Amino acid sequence: MRCPYCQASDSRVVDTFRDKTGRVRRRRECRVCKRRFSTIEQWIQQLPLVVKSDGTREPFDREKILRGLRIACWKRRVSATDLERLVDDVEEYILSLGRSEVESRIIGDRVIEGLKRLDPVAYIRYAIVYLGLEDLSEVRREIDRLLGPETA
Ligand SMILES: [Zn+2]
Repeated sequence: MRCPYCQASDSRVVDTFRDKTGRVRRRRECRVCKRRFSTIEQWIQQLPLVVKSDGTREPFDREKILRGLRIACWKRRVSATDLERLVDDVEEYILSLGRSEVESRIIGDRVIEGLKRLDPVAYIRYAIVYLGLEDLSEVRREIDRLLGPETA
């Protein structure tokens, strides 16, 4: 979804709602120029198949991503709306790639990037599973990276 002002292809969903005709409208903010614009989603869009690391394919499963996120965000100050928006963003992103198949890693990277912005603790929980952090020193390195150079 290109920004109408600067043509950048990376935008963030600020709000999602359905209009009277049942179409999904989204309010977006361009990540480059920060200007906002609206889009209307029609139902001709088809999400690509997900190619898993073992080479098998499965349909994109929004609920599955949400389940993983809810577990990571257990007892954190992250609202259900935030998580829905994060998955909206992931969905939009893979649609914008315009491909019939997308590697699960591309989806996972987008999820984890969004989660990092939402909540650092939830991010670490998710990263332990998703990045397969094997031991405490790897987890610590990731935390150090998050906290930035001044504390490393
Ligand atoms: Zn822009």
